[in-house]
Amino acid sequence: MVTSKEMPKQVIFPKGEKIASDHFIGTAWLSMLVPDDGTYHCPIYNVTFEPGARNNWHKHPGGQILLVTGGRGYYQEEGKPAQLLSAGSVVTIPPQVKHWHGAAPDSWFVHIGITSNPGLGDAEWLKPVTDEEYAELN
Ligand code: MN
Repeated sequence: MVTSKEMPKQVIFPKGEKIASDHFIGTAWLSMLVPDDGTYHCPIYNVTFEPGARNNWHKHPGGQILLVTGGRGYYQEEGKPAQLLSAGSVVTIPPQVKHWHGAAPDSWFVHIGITSNPGLGDAEWLKPVTDEEYAELN
């Protein structure tokens, strides 16, 4: 029987490579689907989180869109309750809004990320989502 903790090899798009970053807790994988280039100006990437994995609080100068393709996870804006996400969820993240996204503690989680207005600059990375903050969701 497949449980939600078992990571699928692939959910629609390739899982890609393990993310080597200080801006994540736990293990996540990244596959660039459309590069940030001078023609489309629309980077699109697949991100896969193991159970409990999440990124730090951060901001995108030009905003970001998340399209969830599998598993269960969370999106939270500062000062607001976290939103539970599953396949089919769409999240629009306004420019400069402090937030994080990641898996639920008991499930892997996969989303496509689209960086809107990429010319406005790269994400600004902030503090980790502490175990205490993360535990409050559950
Ligand atoms: Mn983000």
